[in-house]
Parts: sequence; C-alpha cells; structure tokens
Amino acid sequence: MKIKQKPGTICVQGGWKPKSGEPRVLPIYQSTTFKYDTSEQMARLFDLKDSGYFYTRLANPTNDAVASKIAELEGGVGAMLTSSGQAANFYAVFNICEGGDHFVTSETIYGGTFNLFGVSLKKLGIECTFVDPDASEEEIQKAFRPNTKCLFGETISNPGCKVLDIEKFSKIAHKNGVPLIVDNTFATPVNCRPFDWGCDIITHSTTKYMDGHASSVGGALVDSGNFDWNAHAEKFPGLCTPDNSYHGLIYSKSFGKMAYLTKATAQLMRDFGSIQSPENAFLVNIGLETLHLRMAQHCKNAQAVAEFLEKDPRVAWVHYSGLKNDRYYTLQQKYLPNGSCGVIAFGIKGLQEDSIKFMDSLKMICIVTHVADARSCVLLPASHTHRQLSDKQLLEAGIPKDLIRLSVGIEDVDDILGDIKQALDKIKK
Ligand SMILES: *Cc1c(COP(=O)(O)O)cnc(C)c1O
Repeated sequence: MKIKQKPGTICVQGGWKPKSGEPRVLPIYQSTTFKYDTSEQMARLFDLKDSGYFYTRLANPTNDAVASKIAELEGGVGAMLTSSGQAANFYAVFNICEGGDHFVTSETIYGGTFNLFGVSLKKLGIECTFVDPDASEEEIQKAFRPNTKCLFGETISNPGCKVLDIEKFSKIAHKNGVPLIVDNTFATPVNCRPFDWGCDIITHSTTKYMDGHASSVGGALVDSGNFDWNAHAEKFPGLCTPDNSYHGLIYSKSFGKMAYLTKATAQLMRDFGSIQSPENAFLVNIGLETLHLRMAQHCKNAQAVAEFLEKDPRVAWVHYSGLKNDRYYTLQQKYLPNGSCGVIAFGIKGLQEDSIKFMDSLKMICIVTHVADARSCVLLPASHTHRQLSDKQLLEAGIPKDLIRLSVGIEDVDDILGDIKQALDKIKK
C-alpha cells in the first residue's frame, strides 16, 4: 500500500518518480509528438482504449508529472494543467455547461473570472447569477434554477480577501444535485484543501503562489472524483450520454471517477487547445518544491504587516483574515488554521490621490499587475485590474474604490515594514 506523505514531502518529491537510471529532476519533454512501433498501437490511443502519449496538446509527461503532484496535494484523483488560470476556470465550467445552461457563482471573485462568467460565457448562451457568498443558505438557494449546473466560489477572494464558507457552499450545491467548483489559487493546498470540506472540483492559477516567482502563466483543474454524475445524469448529458465526437463513448461509464477530467482532455483540450507548455510546467514544478516554505513565510510576513496597518492612524481599514477583528477570522480558523496567504486589502484615509501618493512613494515594493509571488507588490484594483467594472460591479465584487491590494512577499519583514512606513510618511497630513 502507498504510504500517505505529508504535504511538504509531496511539494518536494510528488509527481515525478524516476526509475533506476532516470533523471532525478523532472525533465522537460520538449516534444510535440511521441513514437509508436505499430499503427495498431496508435489507433488504440486515439480510441482512448490505451493510455499513452501521442500529441502534447492532449498529454505530455512533464505536464502529467506536475499535474499529478498538484492532484496529490489537493487530495484529488487527477489534474490537468492549462495555459492559464483563466483557461482553467473556463474549462471547469464549460466541461459541464452548454448553451441554455445556468450556474451560480459567488460575486466576490477575481476580475478576470467575473468578466469570463458575466460577459464571455453569456455570449455562448451560458448564464450565471452572482450571489453574495455571505448570504444565508435560503438566500443563495433562490438563485438556483432547473437548468443550474454548478456553484462556484474562491477560497480567499482576489482582491477582497473574503474567506469562503466552503461547507455551506457544498451543502447548497449538493442539495441541488450539482458540483461545487472552488478556485483555490490564493490559499493553495498547503493552507486549505477544499475537497476535505465537500468541494468537488478545484481550479488554480498556477501563475500565483504555485509558480511563486512570477515566471510563468499557467492554470490547473483538479477533480476530487467524488461527484456522482450518474446520480444526476439528466443534468449532465455531456458526461452521461454518448459522445458522438468519440465513437459514442460515455465518459461516466468508461472512466468512472476520471470521467470529468477525461472529457476535459478528450474534448476541451482537443478542441480549444489551451495547454501549458512543458517548459512552463517545469517552472511551476520548481516553484511547487518550495511552496510549503514560502506560504508559511508569506503568512508570517503578511500577519506582521496587517497588524502594523491596523494600528496606523493613517490607515482607514484593513482586510486580512488573520486579524482577530477581521470579519472572516472565524472562517479562517476553520478553513485556514495555518494561515491564509500573503495578500492584504486595505484603504488609506483621505482621497484616492493619497492612495496613489502612497503607492508611488514605495521603493522596494513595486506597482505591478501581479500578486502572490516572492516579491512584495501593490496594486489599486479599481483603477488597474478591475478597471472595466462599473462602480456598481465594483461594489458587488466587494472592491471599494480605495482598496489597495498589497501582496506581501518573502523578503525580510523589517524591510517590507520600513518601505510601507516611509511611504505612509509621504502622504500629506
Ligand atoms: C490570477 C487569477 C486567475 C487568473 O489566472 P491567470 O493565470 O492570470 O489566467 C484566476 N483566479 C484567481 C483567484 C487569480 O488570482
């Protein structure tokens, strides 16, 4: 029997298991194609009767090793890497929703996901209803319709830093016979494993903490294997009725717990082709090897910074679930007992120009369109990442106009605090 390893060990050694004489370090299989001896062997692969590599758009050994490390960290049955977090969220929903379908999503989600769901999926005929994740079960239930196919949320919302009540969400989803999909980007499996709380499918932007060094854009889709598609077969014809583009194969019959991921590969990857390059997968893997160490340091530094900001008279408000006074402290204690992440949302007293003055005065902490990597960085979502959202949408997404998103890195905390202090001193009294 396989011995269950601790997360730190999986971070370092999961996925790639070299045999005698093979490279100790995961190689980059920089090859689009794979060689077979007979035409028959190749044909069986195309019929999904054998598993094996034939074309990197569908599977690649480097990507598979990294995907299986992520699956192991999350406690899932399998995972797939995608070219970006956006692609992962698109696939997660599109794998079970088609034109005429509907889904329900928390409204406090990443701006890119908000647009994907509210604008682009709508053009494909898939509608969604945004709900306040803190609303009661009864209130959220009202958003469900007979054609609703899934419920979606973010463990820790970007950039609002709200913590999702995953158990509440999974209860609502399952009562309605649909899976819960959770974007676990900010928490990472080191700090929270949504499958342990009833979530069915997890997505990641591996661009963030998993890569951790801001070197490669990527995403991942992970399946718990727990959702019983056949029990709700009428809702999920794509999984439970014959696929004419694959010789009438029925995914839920042929692949059991791997049905969802097999369909995502065989159909979505085949047709939309948003693969992660093996080289990017290699970089994500190097990041994963230190994820457990980095997350602990991000949380430690962010806790110190949040406590400092909370006490500073020039700061109007701070959202960080590690603060005892934070609205999400209780949920953090339940779902993220080892810490949440390095991202803090806060506002500065005064006008928006004071926030801008503060940000422009930072020396080591940089203004960049990024979050969740080793280097501390800062952004004003209302005028940067979320610029396309109207004032009303900003409010719904839980983003006050003065919200500064500070991504606390793993530099020495004294230098991070020093930079923040000198920048706050530059604001006019
Ligand atoms: C960044 C981000 C995404 C999108 O990921 P990309 O890799 O930039 O496409 C999705 N969800 C969350 C929570 C994110 O922070």
